[in-house]
Amino acid sequence: MASRADAESTETGGRSSIDNDKIFAFRDRAGSLLSVTEQETIERIANWLRESSSTVVLTGAGISTESGIPDFRGPQGVWTKNPGAEQMATIQHYLANRDARVRSWQNRISNNTWADAQPNAGHIALAGLERRGKLDTLVTQNIDSLHLKAGSSRERVIEIHGTVRDFVCMGCGERGPIERVLDRVRAGEEDPPCRTCGGILKSATISFGQNLVREDMERAERAAARCEVFLAVGTSLTVYPVALLPEMALRNGARLVILNAQETPYDQIAHEVISEQIGAVLPRIVEAV
Ligand SMILES: [Zn+2]
Repeated sequence: MASRADAESTETGGRSSIDNDKIFAFRDRAGSLLSVTEQETIERIANWLRESSSTVVLTGAGISTESGIPDFRGPQGVWTKNPGAEQMATIQHYLANRDARVRSWQNRISNNTWADAQPNAGHIALAGLERRGKLDTLVTQNIDSLHLKAGSSRERVIEIHGTVRDFVCMGCGERGPIERVLDRVRAGEEDPPCRTCGGILKSATISFGQNLVREDMERAERAAARCEVFLAVGTSLTVYPVALLPEMALRNGARLVILNAQETPYDQIAHEVISEQIGAVLPRIVEAV
């Protein structure tokens, strides 16, 4: 396991030198040093979670790649490799081009990525953390709804970038299950208008160029500011304003734990950083709580 020791004891240590030791141990899978190091790290984090009176978890694309959901902004992301696709994903483009909307609805009915995706061990572990009474708020940057599918409760989950589960009318704000619109598309309506006001319908996700829902962000900020442990899972912590949440937590004395395959801007000030596979390590942490 690539892991960082407690920040307090490693003020002067850079990530690389510390990691080198542990990566070496990690690679030596037969060695007992690995299990000691790995188990110690897991137990330390589990202890923090057990003692915490308020824990906030933030999840990003990395927790859902193990469910077959593409990562849009990562090194191999859809938008990273094809910036033109990002332009097509802006709200302005969607509103101004009927063709874009027709294509978008066609994609939704011909591609079952969202409907078929199932929660993986990482999502299930976080639902388990809530059942243990150890999760205050789960903020997710993902639009796949997999936390709810895994059993996390609606009151504790903030889908900060919206969800593909619902539609929303850009005219009157009416909202409902996306299946109602998809059924109309399947029945032949290429760009179904709102039945109440005739406005443009769209999946209830936050597109580029669209503001976040202010109440959602404020709720997330309040939770981050009062938490004792902030656990960031599968997020690069580079997409703002969500990336400010760990800073708010740290400022109020919370422990910051990061589980992510790639480095993040917070690694040097986090209390633990683990770059192990999320679906493998997160269930072990939760079981140890
Ligand atoms: Zn409407």
